[in-house]
Amino acid sequence: MEVAKNKKDIRAYTKEQLRLFFESQGDKAFRGNQVYEWLWQKSAHTFEDMTNISKETRQMLEDNFVINHIKVDQMQRSSDGTIKNAVRLHDDLIVESVLIPTKTRTTACVSSQVGCSLDCKFCATARLKRMRNLNPDEIYDQVVAIDNESRLYFDRPLSNIVFMGMGEPLMNYNNVIKAIDKITSPEGLGMSPKRITVSTSGVPKMIRKMADEEVKFKLAVSLHSAIDEIRTSIMPFNATFTLADLREALEYWYQKTKSRITYEYVVWEGINDTQRDANALVDFCRFAPSKVNLIEYNPIDDGDFQQANNAAIEMYVRTLEQNGITVTVRRSRGKDIDAACGQLANKS
Ligand code: SF4
Repeated sequence: MEVAKNKKDIRAYTKEQLRLFFESQGDKAFRGNQVYEWLWQKSAHTFEDMTNISKETRQMLEDNFVINHIKVDQMQRSSDGTIKNAVRLHDDLIVESVLIPTKTRTTACVSSQVGCSLDCKFCATARLKRMRNLNPDEIYDQVVAIDNESRLYFDRPLSNIVFMGMGEPLMNYNNVIKAIDKITSPEGLGMSPKRITVSTSGVPKMIRKMADEEVKFKLAVSLHSAIDEIRTSIMPFNATFTLADLREALEYWYQKTKSRITYEYVVWEGINDTQRDANALVDFCRFAPSKVNLIEYNPIDDGDFQQANNAAIEMYVRTLEQNGITVTVRRSRGKDIDAACGQLANKS
């Protein structure tokens, strides 16, 4: 029998390619549609599961292909209901994804890379370095796993997805887009793109590309400072992708999509907690309808970064509101299982 490593990953095939494959085998092209439906809509883990396909055909598929499904290796539940999955990939690398329940919605926070290409100083994932990009099916599978958990533990389907787990999604753009296409397609999960947010640390070229492609999902930017010198000190890639470039790309995004921009922002003691910082944020984001999420910070081990005190958060809220910018203060979820923002680092 053929060894697994010589077999092809069947989920790398489009529906059209599967149809052609079956035709080349002297079968009906329609068989490709059936298999495609099993792979995506029904999330089959084995060829055996494909019960409306003949035994001989299933064996032929078994001999030629593999289904590289992710495996949830470990699931941890937080006291606040948050669930963190440690997900094993076919090459034994691990990424993490998180289910965040609230009264009205269930949100999946998914990873796009193993480790991260970037090196934000406050982020646990940055310490892992980037090992590889996730394939579209590996991103899709994380969503399916969380959708199943949402139905099982909360009695409702997944309602929202944020690309805010491990990795910079715009550094794995093509695969993230392919995964979103599957998630939103009626042949996949059929979710509305409006319920999906891609959160980036700000890669100007890719933001322009998304705008040109008129994508329908939402955009969030992890900004954390609107002053170049400070942002570069905490997010070193800002030396290359400066705030001026980012701002130009976001203006272009807004012109093309007319879609509000969300900024993720943590206020740290002694780093960005002054009135000057808040004023710079207002200046940066007032060109388009914006929303700022002030996110509670979860310290990682060495303690260089500490959440600013309440007075600083209130100063930010006041400054933003006075300038007509929507602001919310986000409490962090899943802290006790290291599932909160910036904490995903395969520690479990
Ligand atoms: S904050 Fe996001 S972009 Fe920055 S290192 Fe962490 S995972 Fe990467």
